[in-house]
Amino acid sequence: MKRAVVFESSKPLRLTDYAIPTPPSNGAVVKITYSGVCHSDIHFWEGFDNLPGLKELAPGHEIAGVVEALGDDAGTELNVGDNVVVYPWLACLECALCVGWRSNLCRDIRQMLGFRQHGGFATHVVVPIVERTVLRIPRGLSPEVACMLPCSGITTYNAVLNTRDTLQDMVGLKVYCKDITDN
Ligand SMILES: [Zn+2]
Ligand SMILES: [Zn+2]
Repeated sequence: MKRAVVFESSKPLRLTDYAIPTPPSNGAVVKITYSGVCHSDIHFWEGFDNLPGLKELAPGHEIAGVVEALGDDAGTELNVGDNVVVYPWLACLECALCVGWRSNLCRDIRQMLGFRQHGGFATHVVVPIVERTVLRIPRGLSPEVACMLPCSGITTYNAVLNTRDTLQDMVGLKVYCKDITDN
């Protein structure tokens, strides 16, 4: 398999050969079909201090692909050959935040794909755990769009969701002003 690896900040990535890994017992190996480029990938490549990145690592955390192999204890929800997206913000899944479905705020995010483990700028990615992270792509959704959902998609969706009431108030205010003007 190949990975496009950052060896040095702001220098060209190097296409590097690796052995195809076996899947971890609760995880999977996903053959990548699409990988988005996020601004965080650029920051990682530039070497920003606030990203917990390691050098000699393939960035990329907007990943769509096909399940190539599953670990023995990965469960039966997925099958080899499934078209999937990979949620990259891997967490402990045991703390109160994770149990409450706020794993993006978990302090134990040691395994983040593309920052602490090799990410999606590659032919394959190793996902340490499939629970909540390897998700089948619904029929009708193209993989090139689906790959963006685990980062760009949920970020913008969250912004709209959290500002919805304010936006509705603003729209209401605009209509109210128009009524005054009309009268
Ligand atoms: Zn991102
Ligand atoms: Zn947690």
